[in-house]
Amino acid sequence: MASDPKTPDAPKPSNFLRGIIERDLEAGTWSQRRFGGTPGDGAHHRAGAPDPARIRTRFPPEPNGYLHVGHAKSICLNFGLARDYGGVCHLRFDDTNPEKEEQEYVDAIIEAVRWLGFDWDVNGTRHLYWASDYFDFMYRAAEALVGAGLAYVDEQSADEMRANRGDFNTPGTPSPFRGRTPEENLARFREMRDGRHADGAMVLRAKIDMASPNINLRDPTLYRIKHATHHNTGDRWCLYPMYTYAHPIEDALENITHSICTLEFEDQRPFYDWLLDNLATLGLLERPTPRQHEFGRLNLSYVITSKRKLRALVDEKIVEGWDDPRMPTIFGMRRRGYTPESIRAMADGSGASKTNIWLDYSVLDGCLRDDLEGKAARAMAVLDPLKLKLTNWADVFGGAATEPCQAPAHPHRPELGQRQFALGPELWIERDDFSETPPKGFFRLFPGNKVRLKYGVVVECTGCEKDASGAVTAVLAKVLPDTKSGTPGADAVKVKGTITWVGVHDAIAATVNVYDRLFTEAQPDAGGRDFREALNPASKRVVEGWLEPSLAGTERETRLQFERHGYFVADRVLHSAGRPVFNRVTTLKDSWAK
Ligand code: ATP
Ligand code: MG
Repeated sequence: MASDPKTPDAPKPSNFLRGIIERDLEAGTWSQRRFGGTPGDGAHHRAGAPDPARIRTRFPPEPNGYLHVGHAKSICLNFGLARDYGGVCHLRFDDTNPEKEEQEYVDAIIEAVRWLGFDWDVNGTRHLYWASDYFDFMYRAAEALVGAGLAYVDEQSADEMRANRGDFNTPGTPSPFRGRTPEENLARFREMRDGRHADGAMVLRAKIDMASPNINLRDPTLYRIKHATHHNTGDRWCLYPMYTYAHPIEDALENITHSICTLEFEDQRPFYDWLLDNLATLGLLERPTPRQHEFGRLNLSYVITSKRKLRALVDEKIVEGWDDPRMPTIFGMRRRGYTPESIRAMADGSGASKTNIWLDYSVLDGCLRDDLEGKAARAMAVLDPLKLKLTNWADVFGGAATEPCQAPAHPHRPELGQRQFALGPELWIERDDFSETPPKGFFRLFPGNKVRLKYGVVVECTGCEKDASGAVTAVLAKVLPDTKSGTPGADAVKVKGTITWVGVHDAIAATVNVYDRLFTEAQPDAGGRDFREALNPASKRVVEGWLEPSLAGTERETRLQFERHGYFVADRVLHSAGRPVFNRVTTLKDSWAK
């Protein structure tokens, strides 16, 4: 189980990233670094004190959507490594793209990372950063590259540039603008900055190697013109850095030591190193510069994590919003009832490797059961109600309207106390706990059979009532005297079945959303298939059920085990004492296992 996210855990399974960090710490690779207290260039850090953080990692989301379970993996990895090795993890909004970011997403990301249990305030310093705060430095670095003959302004059209890039088998063709002098390039670049050119008229490119076998090194674009208002810098800039240029610089300014990203960035690493090495040589950054390490993405079976496809689910109203309990967003998982502990345990348990991994969804449910088994209070709930009438009530209980019963809130945690409820002449039971013509091995209610009403008495079924269509409307049974749980001799009558129930007189009505997987296929979008074709029509079933009275006053987000049914949570948006709404997180056992 994952423990407190802020304190080092018990030993975790080793992985290659831990190996790298441990070797770095042993070799003292990062031990001479100084930190200026805030992000900044080489001079700023040089003037600072020795960096109190032994390593620095970062989680760098683009604020253009809601975080999902894949991001949770990255969050747990980056914050977890920093925690385990005496480091600090920064939360950085990668907001270099002026048109896509929104405050709604910024707020949601902050809330999601906090909810997962992580924090970027360390000893009074708030390590929450914005990539757009580095635009000035990025521009200055670009001018330095131009001055050193390492970057040039290219006026080819986008199509020409693409055609001249070549492919795996063909080297690229140098741009006719590649031979310009640094002075010419600088003048042009400043014109770009000053708004003298239209979007797409020209770009700034690194001057590396048009014949490189790594296409990312064939003079990648560093800056493009975009006359757009940015949420942070307003109209100050009309040229914006490309992600591949911005990201290494963001890492360097923040003194990141281990820049951990997913595998698709592997081919970008040579450029990452080229850029930071040159900026260090030009005196703008301190050495050693950050190092990039790639790990495999986490994929969950029965889940899609592409932001575009998740957005389609929301826009096409296939789900009820970004926090729909069937969504793999952190907000959706939270509303569904998953705990931060269960998500961290899944993420930590999946390690880090050099290949993308597919984790079976049941692993997450298993982590949830492990977490809640010892924590969640128990309660009885009837989700598909059928009335049970105790026909000899007056003979056994005399004039009493009800008979008090109790049960422990948790079977292994007496300190949580007892739940109180009562038997009465009419009870709600589960419809499928009765069978007029029982199949072999059915031990619950059928005429002539005895069962125990859990925490109550033993009853013997005598028959049922039906409506005109022949549907069963009530089950009839008689109470066996002196069988009440907890009283002497209660076990004298042996029964094979025990069923759950709630009293008609004291049950609480509740809406219960019985959720299941959103897709019926393990890889809903495999091979380019339309994920809409793999939707599970039974992913949400709404039932009107009955809960035991001890659940009156249950607060939102309380997680419970409904005995025999699984784990449930009081919905964090819709639940209220007057109108209880519960969501099923998962069943008690994995029902999807083959
Ligand atoms: P998407 O592809 O869903 O749009 P993204 O990677 O573009 O996601 P970012 O906001 O850029 O979204 O991601 C922030 C961080 O989360 C990145 O470092 C990214 O590598 C990481 N990340 C995203 N998805 C996964 C995943 N499935 N497994 C592990 N890390 C992931
Ligand atoms: Mg991205």
